[in-house]
Amino acid sequence: MSLLPILRFPDPRLKKIATRVERVDETMRRLARDMAETMYEAPGIGLAATQVDVHKRLIVIDASETRDQLLTLINPEILALDGLQVCEEGCLSVPGIYDKVGRAEHVVVRYLDLDEQEQTVEAWGLLAVCLQHEIDHLEGRVFVEHLSQLKQVRIKNKLAKQAKITA
Ligand code: ZN
Repeated sequence: MSLLPILRFPDPRLKKIATRVERVDETMRRLARDMAETMYEAPGIGLAATQVDVHKRLIVIDASETRDQLLTLINPEILALDGLQVCEEGCLSVPGIYDKVGRAEHVVVRYLDLDEQEQTVEAWGLLAVCLQHEIDHLEGRVFVEHLSQLKQVRIKNKLAKQAKITA
């Protein structure tokens, strides 16, 4: 297993739209394992393949407090969205930035697991937020794009300063 480098906003590669996974093969399974390891190490509660510069529809999530409820979702599709919740979000691609985003309260998502079996997950609260956040990444959207233009400019400036300090 290995840790994967995570793209940082506003890297233009975060805007790429991921394509469907046609076959769940060993390469895909290895990628899923490496993504999970990278997410736990960061630490984060979700990671989309887009964030590690692989533009395939694959996400890993663990929103549990015990960090032992790993979900690997291939070709996730939102079947239902309802209600509204406002939650403070962060993102491994936007380090150090947290802000409130409005999302659906309840979601139902269909996906393929690592054995290429169709599964459905129904979620509320944090897991529902996380599913929407990660599926957004596959569509080339980062959570800060839900914020005002002014906030987005401030975030870009702040991250550019951070990059200079660490460079
Ligand atoms: Zn994210």
